[in-house]
Amino acid sequence: AREWHLAARPEGWPKPEDFALVAAPVRQPGPGEILVRNEYLSVDPYMRGRMNDVKSYVPPFQLGAAMDGGAVGYVVASQADGFEVGDAVLHGLGWREYATLDAKHAVKVDPKLAPLSYYLGVLGMPGLTAYAGLLEVASFKEGDTVFVSGAAGAVGSLVGQIAKLKGAARVIGSAGSAEKVAKLVEDYGFDAAFNYKDGPVREQLAKAAPEGIDVYFDNVGGDHLEAAIGALNVHGRVTLCGAIAQYNDTSAPAGPRNLALAIGKRLRLQGLLVRDHAALQPQFVAEVAGWLKDGSLRYDETVVDGVENTAEAFLGLLRGDNTGKMVVRLAS
Ligand code: NDP
Repeated sequence: AREWHLAARPEGWPKPEDFALVAAPVRQPGPGEILVRNEYLSVDPYMRGRMNDVKSYVPPFQLGAAMDGGAVGYVVASQADGFEVGDAVLHGLGWREYATLDAKHAVKVDPKLAPLSYYLGVLGMPGLTAYAGLLEVASFKEGDTVFVSGAAGAVGSLVGQIAKLKGAARVIGSAGSAEKVAKLVEDYGFDAAFNYKDGPVREQLAKAAPEGIDVYFDNVGGDHLEAAIGALNVHGRVTLCGAIAQYNDTSAPAGPRNLALAIGKRLRLQGLLVRDHAALQPQFVAEVAGWLKDGSLRYDETVVDGVENTAEAFLGLLRGDNTGKMVVRLAS
């Protein structure tokens, strides 16, 4: 079987040579363990931070060792109570074809309720990030005007749609291509959208939100955050979810230069870590699965085939090749 190793720590933008696909023996499960054949691997922006040798909220990848991340697959051998061959599970040993792990670290999922890959996206970590980040962290309420960046991605596309479903007055999104902008308005029901590459975010946001915004869900940081601070109304709230515009920066980012505006406007800017919101999981799954079933929530995936293309899928995610969730499908 094959697994991905981090061959070198990227400086700035990662390169294909920073990753290596390596042959690895398949270890049979010991007591309490399961062996899983992975079907889908997740590639996520936070993995870029794990490629740096710095202390953070997730430990760094080790050089020359297998990388990890979200994955779903089927149990092919089990020495754990409650796990049978054929069970579908979500676990944390992605970036590889086969995973042997303590069954305590696997969660059974139902492939009849939703396609397996959905547990890496809309029904999984990014979905809960959107749901908790909007409803809990931003204290979203009916009638709010919401702006979300990275709006055509896994988290952002859900933030905008959930805001609409929960009674937002107006939802505005930004994304990096004309196709994505069209999708936001036509498929996801955003009221307005713009391509941040077309001109200053501040100007485009002012046009899209003439009455200002009440909530900003930040996936990008930098000029997006600065523009949002400028556009926020009094008592506005910001969910600081990600700052993908600076993940490959080699020097400290500038700004936001207008943070002092937060004083007079009594803004609240709050960081989000999805793992703090596990208590919301049952409510989140019930509500989101319902919306998927009745067609009121649209969910897109960009699927890359083959374990050998995992590093390329990750690089593509950073470039914006994806619409919706980027996943890698393994040949079975
Ligand atoms: P996405 O599906 O949104 O994929 C990343 C997207 O980022 C790309 O498609 C690209 O779209 C956009 N992007 C890349 N570079 C830039 C740039 N310079 N400026 C603006 N947009 C850029 O990923 P996720 O939905 O998985 O994650 C979205 C954000 O949420 C990330 O910042 C991530 O780190 C964060 N996150 C945080 C969590 C937490 O617990 N705090 C949990 C999960 C995610 P485009 O074509 O529009 O540029």
